Amino acid sequence: MLGLESVRDGIRRAASSCGRSAGEVTLMAVSKTHPYEAVMEAYAMGQRLFGENRVQELASKFPPPGQRPEGMTVCLIGHLQRNKAAKAVQIADRIDSVDSTGLMDELEKRLAPADRVLDILFEVNSSGEAQKSGFTCEEELMAALEHLSLTPHLRLAGLMTVGPLGGDEDRTRKAFAWTRSLYDRIRAMGYDLHVLSMGMSGDYVTAIEEGSTEVRIGTAIFGQRDYGNG
Ligand SMILES: *Cc1c(COP(=O)(O)O)cnc(C)c1O
Repeated sequence: MLGLESVRDGIRRAASSCGRSAGEVTLMAVSKTHPYEAVMEAYAMGQRLFGENRVQELASKFPPPGQRPEGMTVCLIGHLQRNKAAKAVQIADRIDSVDSTGLMDELEKRLAPADRVLDILFEVNSSGEAQKSGFTCEEELMAALEHLSLTPHLRLAGLMTVGPLGGDEDRTRKAFAWTRSLYDRIRAMGYDLHVLSMGMSGDYVTAIEEGSTEVRIGTAIFGQRDYGNG
């Protein structure tokens, strides 16, 4: 799996070019559409953090929590429908795509009976694109922050965003910089955030320059995705 080494290299170079250390940037390997063998190949090379964007695919690909290889962590990064919240809390180590207070309530309802606390990220729609999920403005995000007082089994660990389609560098940089400013503001309010998840195969260098602490890379590690004909 040559892709993993070259992505690690790319992260190191991007970090050092802007005066950051590579240790400040965690690599999440996004394994959607790729088989568990590919996951284990990356695991054998030291990769521990994985991302999947569908509940069902995560559930059928990875062993249940407790039976996974040591240190393996799997996060849900795709839009989560409320009716899949129950399943999601059973199998995801973190849910990175929390984008509404309604979803927060649904997750809380599933976690409270077992008194389990789950790490989440708030997803921010930083590009303004209608097809993207996420909180679209600061007011919405602040309301969600306040809502955390009603969902004690959700522990907010940070923010996640997907950059604009098309890869125009200026727009990408603006979207990431805006998300970073929200992250800084929330931290300044006293919230203990430590994850700023932004950057994918095509834009992770810009994301690191704009302060990302976690990049989500699929294609550049595992190759092109084949979604089949269906
Ligand atoms: C698929 C996906 C990624 C990885 O995208 P690549 O371009 O293949 O690196 C990252 N984040 C999310 C939310 C995704 O759905």
